Parts: sequence; C-alpha cells; structure tokens
Amino acid sequence: MVSQQLIDTLTDKQQELSTRIEAITQDFQKGRSADFAEQTTECENDQVLEGIRAEAKEELKQVNRALQRIKNEEFGLCPRCGEPIAEARLKTLPYKDFCINCAS
Ligand SMILES: [Zn+2]
Repeated sequence: MVSQQLIDTLTDKQQELSTRIEAITQDFQKGRSADFAEQTTECENDQVLEGIRAEAKEELKQVNRALQRIKNEEFGLCPRCGEPIAEARLKTLPYKDFCINCAS
C-alpha cells in the first residue's frame, strides 16, 4: 500500500529539513559583529531565520509522524476521523496529518 517511493520522498524531506534546521542553528551561534548598524540588520535577519526554523521544525515533526504511521501501518488514514485520506492529497502533501475535512 505504501510505496517505497513515498518512503524515499519522506526520508529525503526529513534529511533536507534537518540540514536546514542545523544550518540555521549554526548561523545563530556564529556570534555577532560589533558594528551597531550591522547588529540591527542581523537582528532582523534573526527574526526571519527564526521563523523559517520554526516552520522547518513543524514540518519535520509532520514528516516524522508520517514515517511513524507508515511503520505502524496506519498511513493514509486520518488520525482524527479515521477516514482514508484522498490519494491526490497524499501524493502532493504526503506528510499532512489530517484529511481535507479535518484539516480545514
Ligand atoms: Zn479526518
């Protein structure tokens, strides 16, 4: 029922997101310049980066859950209503948790 291709897609996505989160985290740890004007710019950048990181983390959680559900052979069923999730939705957004009714 779950194709190897889907598992590969999710695994790739998991890798990609982890790398992105790691890169942003390292960027935060690099230290700051002494120049005040630059600090202001960096501060704004930080906010943008923090937003991207939070988004990536949230997406990573969804990917992890999807992989977990594949392991448990629950993949493709909406955890909220138990109905099968439309195949088209699974194809475009394979790591979304809920069916279209519950997600909206
Ligand atoms: Zn549902």
